[in-house]
Amino acid sequence: MTGSNLTKITAPNPGPLTLSGTNTYVFGGVAIDPGPDDEAHLSEVAAASAIETILLTHRHPDHASGATRLAEMTGVSVLAFGDGIADGDEFSGLVAVHTPGHAPDHVCFFHEGSGTLFSGDLIAGEGSIMVAPPEGDLADYMESLRRVRNLSPSRILPGHGPEVADAGAKIEEYVSHREEREAMVIKALESGAETVEEVVALAYSEVPPEMRPYAGRAARAHLEKLGRSLP
Ligand SMILES: [Zn+2]
Repeated sequence: MTGSNLTKITAPNPGPLTLSGTNTYVFGGVAIDPGPDDEAHLSEVAAASAIETILLTHRHPDHASGATRLAEMTGVSVLAFGDGIADGDEFSGLVAVHTPGHAPDHVCFFHEGSGTLFSGDLIAGEGSIMVAPPEGDLADYMESLRRVRNLSPSRILPGHGPEVADAGAKIEEYVSHREEREAMVIKALESGAETVEEVVALAYSEVPPEMRPYAGRAARAHLEKLGRSLP
C-alpha cells in the first residue's frame, strides 16, 4: 500500500466519542466506513477513486449511516459482518478480522503486504474506545485486541483520530490500560463500593465531570466481565 492509492477523508461529525470525526478510507476500489449521511462528505468519498465495494467495520451510525447514499451514488453494494463479510474474507487484499467487543458485528481490515490495520472502533488514534453493555462486551474486546496483536501490524488507520505509526505499542497500551482499570475496579469493590456511581468515584476519579456518564457505562462493562451486577 502506497500513499497514492490510499485516501483518508474525515467526516464533519466531531464529538467526544468521534474525536475529529469519522475517518473514511478509500483504498484501491474499496471504501471503508462511509461515515454519516452527509452529502458533501460522501461526494468527496465518491470522487476519490472508482469505488467497487463499500465495507463497514460495524453498523454504528457514525460509520454507517451514509452507506445507503454512497451506494446509490456509486452503484455498488454495502458489505458488513454477517451480510457479505465473514471472518477471513478478502476484499482487494484486505482481510476481514472479526473483532467483537465495541460492537458484536465489528471487523477490522488487515492489509498484510503493508502491515496496515484499518481498526474501525477497536482502536482509536487517540484516547480510548467505548465498550459498554449491553452491546459492548469487555471480555470479547480484550480477546479482539489480542487477536490483532497476533497479526503484528506495523501501523493502524483508525476510525477516529490520527494514524498510529507504532501499532504494537498502541495495542500494548490498550491492553494494559484495560488491565489497570480492571484492577482499580476490583480495588473499588474490595473497599466497599456498592453502586456503579461509587465504583466510578473510586476507579475513575481522574475522569472530568462531562465524561462521567461514559465512565459509568465503562464501569458496567468491567463489572459484567467480573460477573458482578451493581445498581
Ligand atoms: Zn462505534
